Amino acid sequence: MRRFLLVPLAIALMAVCPPSGGHTLLAQPPSGTVTVRAARVLDGRGATLQNAVIEIAGGRIVRVDQRSGPVTYDLGTATLLPGMIDTHVHIGYHFGKDGRASNEGETAVEMALFAAENAWVTLINGITTVQSAGALADKDLRDAINRGVLPGPRILSSLGSANERTGDPAALRAYVVKQKAAGADFIKIFASKSIRDGGAPTMTLEQLQAACDEAKAQGLRTLVHAQSAEAAILGTKAGCTQIEHGAFVNDEALKLMAEKGVYFDPNIGLVLQNYVENKPRFLGIGNYTEEGFAFMEKAIPTNYPMFKKALASKVRMPMGTDAVAGGHGQNAREIIARVKNGGQAPMDAIIGATSLAAESMGLATRIGALAPGLQADLVAVDGNPLQDIETLRRVRFVMKGGVVYRNDPAPAR
Ligand SMILES: [Zn+2]
Repeated sequence: MRRFLLVPLAIALMAVCPPSGGHTLLAQPPSGTVTVRAARVLDGRGATLQNAVIEIAGGRIVRVDQRSGPVTYDLGTATLLPGMIDTHVHIGYHFGKDGRASNEGETAVEMALFAAENAWVTLINGITTVQSAGALADKDLRDAINRGVLPGPRILSSLGSANERTGDPAALRAYVVKQKAAGADFIKIFASKSIRDGGAPTMTLEQLQAACDEAKAQGLRTLVHAQSAEAAILGTKAGCTQIEHGAFVNDEALKLMAEKGVYFDPNIGLVLQNYVENKPRFLGIGNYTEEGFAFMEKAIPTNYPMFKKALASKVRMPMGTDAVAGGHGQNAREIIARVKNGGQAPMDAIIGATSLAAESMGLATRIGALAPGLQADLVAVDGNPLQDIETLRRVRFVMKGGVVYRNDPAPAR
């Protein structure tokens, strides 16, 4: 038991100690220039550079080149890529003290600490930005991480969600205005039933148009939960930004999304597998019934051919996992499934979790690539993910905004 407690502590200490041994307890980028070398650098936009060095100053990338000479961090045979981005998580969802997902009787402080744990495991596994779709409590976690002391990924959150019960088009517009005022980064809308209830559409075109149109007017993007093809089509016709899940989408829906430039975020590698792996922790809560689990188990293998059809349709697919309790920190499983089960090229799957994900969130000029001017969000994995995509789960170095949060020694050969 002691060992388990000491390991995260040791990692936490490494995180705040630069390699020179100076001690700073505030996670601010070091003054001066920092350089990181690795056997290969994937820039997140499709380019690979061998034996490259990334120069960082003030938390931003200054240069990427192939200079020789000493560097601050020499990562040897590792591969460097941009910090990974997950466009759909639920950062607060967790198993409580009783091991269950219901979280009955928890205090607000306990909930906050569980959420902080989720943020920590997400970050040290190489995910430097997440989009949480989303609870009001995300706001405090997001703002705490932004203060620069608590380690966690950058968080964007919808701070809640709208659904058919939010009301008529006028009520939906009012909801969007209220969320904007509350500090939401985007709007989450449930336009279909849960996959555990079959996924049929729940909102009308008029409702979706009102919500997505008002969001646009407020400068916010819209993520639409849509399992069925009909719901995905309605969300696309309504001018929403991104369609989530889509377990039952068809060629018509995919074609329309591709034509309209709507992003599609299928979740094929983590969320359903995690539910099944942790079934006793969910079973008996709400619609987590035996019937609900049957729907989910059936969708795991049918999601793979759905993803292949989506690839063929050329719809843009930023990476999102829908990570819930049990799934945090395992986000890269989604990228691995896209390659191993969905037939996507490794480079394209990595782009989906870096520059394309950043673009889908309107952050392409700030994160998602290793390029001058962007935030220094760097992840190194042990090996070459272009040859073996599973290496994305062997993260050994994490930098966010120029601050190193993880720097494991090179594995023994
Ligand atoms: Zn979700």
